[in-house]
Amino acid sequence: MTLGILYREDLKEYDFGQGHPFRGDRFDAFYHALRSNLTQGIDYRIVKSDLATDDDLFLICNREYINFTREFYRAASRGLTGPGDLYRFHSADNTPLGKPGKIEEAARFIVGQAKEACRLVQEGFFQKVISVGGGLHHARRSRGEGFCLYNDVAYCALHLIKKYGMERVLILDTDAHAGNGTCEYFYDDPRVLFIDLHQDPLTIYPGTGFAGEVGRGEGKGFTINVPMPVGAGYESFQMVFDTIVEPVTMEFKPQIIIRNGGSDPHFKDGLTSLGLPLEGFFMIGQKVRQMAEVCDDKVIDLVCSGYNKDVLPHAWLAIAGGLAGIKLNLKEVETDCDIHAEDVYLTKTKEVIEDVKANHRDYWSCLG
Ligand SMILES: [Zn+2]
Repeated sequence: MTLGILYREDLKEYDFGQGHPFRGDRFDAFYHALRSNLTQGIDYRIVKSDLATDDDLFLICNREYINFTREFYRAASRGLTGPGDLYRFHSADNTPLGKPGKIEEAARFIVGQAKEACRLVQEGFFQKVISVGGGLHHARRSRGEGFCLYNDVAYCALHLIKKYGMERVLILDTDAHAGNGTCEYFYDDPRVLFIDLHQDPLTIYPGTGFAGEVGRGEGKGFTINVPMPVGAGYESFQMVFDTIVEPVTMEFKPQIIIRNGGSDPHFKDGLTSLGLPLEGFFMIGQKVRQMAEVCDDKVIDLVCSGYNKDVLPHAWLAIAGGLAGIKLNLKEVETDCDIHAEDVYLTKTKEVIEDVKANHRDYWSCLG
């Protein structure tokens, strides 16, 4: 099976500048790892997409936000202060520092890739497509935050519904941070099942994504938040997949799976406190591949996060390996702890699973 990988060099422009945690060299690091023998037989083809137009962006953002964002970040990339008040539309962590790249343009490439990913899968070019730089899950219709300008995850789902007539789309967010932006787009929408595994919101940005947040109106039951305990590792994630993610997915019967999230659940990540080893990323890719049998093997996978440069390309590759069904020989980063030791957070994870089930047993018979 050949993976389609959407990538272009221009993605390096998604760079908030020196001193900011989100730099543009991450994409090239992954591409380099992909090109070297680290893939160990993953069959892939690189595809380039075009920039998203304003018309494309209207599907996910309002005009005023797009206009401001375009003008502000284009000015910033030229070293100008730029117009207006950034904080009216963006959070402080979206402030570019020093000499940033052409962030807005790169963000348009990422939405362009989302559009192209939908076309490639729906028109039968590939069953599984990875969009490098995708998964900007904190962005909303009129607000950018958490290093995200335009929400390409939401774009994928809305585009698949609007252009290809899909009725059941699964978004599986495995990033360490809750996908508050994506959640907002679909909170009352039963066409999109949003399952979000993330670090306990009491301990990390954005502070949302508790088990009791289950959706609204017709969308009740179609948002499933799984707040993972700090430190949760391989066995915790595996158990959540076995007891919640897989059974609900089988009951929902999605027509496609969109997964997003990069390397930040890794135990050596610089911004988060989860405990996933590289093998855990492989396992996630593998689980998604197995679940996708329910939807003709269709998967769009979005990877951009990660705040440890030594981990990031390997974790992204591990996901790709799992998706492709190619067992990789993964080289874990140096650590003092025994990553093969029992996941001591499993007991806490079991409590979280019971909480999620209690909140959702009215909506999903498999959780009853
Ligand atoms: Zn994250």
